[in-house]
Amino acid sequence: MSAKVNRVYLALGSNIGDRDRYIREAIDMLNEHEAIKIVKISPAYNTAPVGYIDQTDFLNAAVAIDTTLSPRELLAVCLDIEQRLGRVRTIRWGPRTVDIDIIFYDDLIIDDGILTVPHPRMHERGFVLQPLCDIAPNAVHPVYKKTVEQMYREWKAKGDINSNV
Ligand code: AMP
Repeated sequence: MSAKVNRVYLALGSNIGDRDRYIREAIDMLNEHEAIKIVKISPAYNTAPVGYIDQTDFLNAAVAIDTTLSPRELLAVCLDIEQRLGRVRTIRWGPRTVDIDIIFYDDLIIDDGILTVPHPRMHERGFVLQPLCDIAPNAVHPVYKKTVEQMYREWKAKGDINSNV
């Protein structure tokens, strides 16, 4: 019997060194995993940092994957890729070679103290919503019951610099 294939959306960000290469390498490393298949890749967007703002701009992208990994197994793979690409964890929301967040995992709602899915701040972040909207405008947030396109439109309509945080 084969394991269930789950549709997952990941957000990637980088703001150190060759950001484009880090994003591409992270996607390649995901694709090399036997239980992960890359389905769609968004364009990458240059975005201003939020949270800790005294740092260089980020490059952000989103990918759709099909995977038989469980949410926690997938998180472990993402953290391993972050580490292999040399992320140094210093300041929260600070500089990083690559950051990989699990945005949606099918329509699961998870909050187990280690992993929160959907990602708790995704609906407030243009740098997540914009690339996600390119590849999954009709994906529905299982808590808010809104499509990505709707959330992105609402985020843009706020038109307030603080709405990015
Ligand atoms: P950060 O890299 O600062 O986003 O934090 C990474 C940590 O956030 C991970 O070690 C996870 O334990 C935790 N985390 C909670 N929810 C998520 C999620 N949806 N995607 C990725 N990491 C998450």
